[in-house]
Amino acid sequence: MSKPIPKTVNRPAQCPFCGKLFDYTMYPEIIIPGDSKLKKKVINKTLFFPKCPHCKKEFKLKVGCIYRNETKKEWFIVTDSPESRFETMMKTGDIGFNDISSDDDVLDFMKGLYTRRVVYDVDSFREKILLSDSNYDDRIIELMKLSLSGLLGRENHVPVYRIFLEETAGNTLEFTAIMGVCPPYEYVTVKTPANVYTQYRNKYLDKLGDPREDEYILTDQTWAAKSGLLKNEDAGFIVPT
Ligand SMILES: [Zn+2]
Repeated sequence: MSKPIPKTVNRPAQCPFCGKLFDYTMYPEIIIPGDSKLKKKVINKTLFFPKCPHCKKEFKLKVGCIYRNETKKEWFIVTDSPESRFETMMKTGDIGFNDISSDDDVLDFMKGLYTRRVVYDVDSFREKILLSDSNYDDRIIELMKLSLSGLLGRENHVPVYRIFLEETAGNTLEFTAIMGVCPPYEYVTVKTPANVYTQYRNKYLDKLGDPREDEYILTDQTWAAKSGLLKNEDAGFIVPT
């Protein structure tokens, strides 16, 4: 049995701009239903993006946090450590929570019941939560991002370093692409009509398995490229506006 995860931890955060330390409240676990205010803070970018009280600059924290949605049976983990064992732990069920009382519970909890994802930064974490909230399949979105990256890279003659969904308001999906080979990167905003998602879903969803399977724990751009689904496709399917 693991110890109950505390609701909040005050930890010193170090500002990457001025190097000074300040106290910041972390939330190791967000559970839905219940923590919907915290979820909103993640989506609004107010939770993991503190403003330094010394130099007043805003930056992105490196954090570890578990998001568990009991209604939708989803479990997303963000970890700042690339050599983290979280992927293995998620596959084997070797994570304990205070409301789980037996090993069988753990296995039921882990296998087949939950859609599980591990990400390595808060932008991706926020994206997973945003997609879940808007009922988008993250694998379809990763395929769209891959296609969009190809298009943007060709148009701008620089590669896309990272790309993520920023907003899902109305009839458009707004992506932010971080472009370049090294810092300083250029930030590009690209909008696509939301029905492009529907086209992608109709085309690719039946080629994918159950989203709760182990192979989707790391659903990201590497996964999308490895899936080979876009191999012989034109990257012009998304029309930037
Ligand atoms: Zn500062």
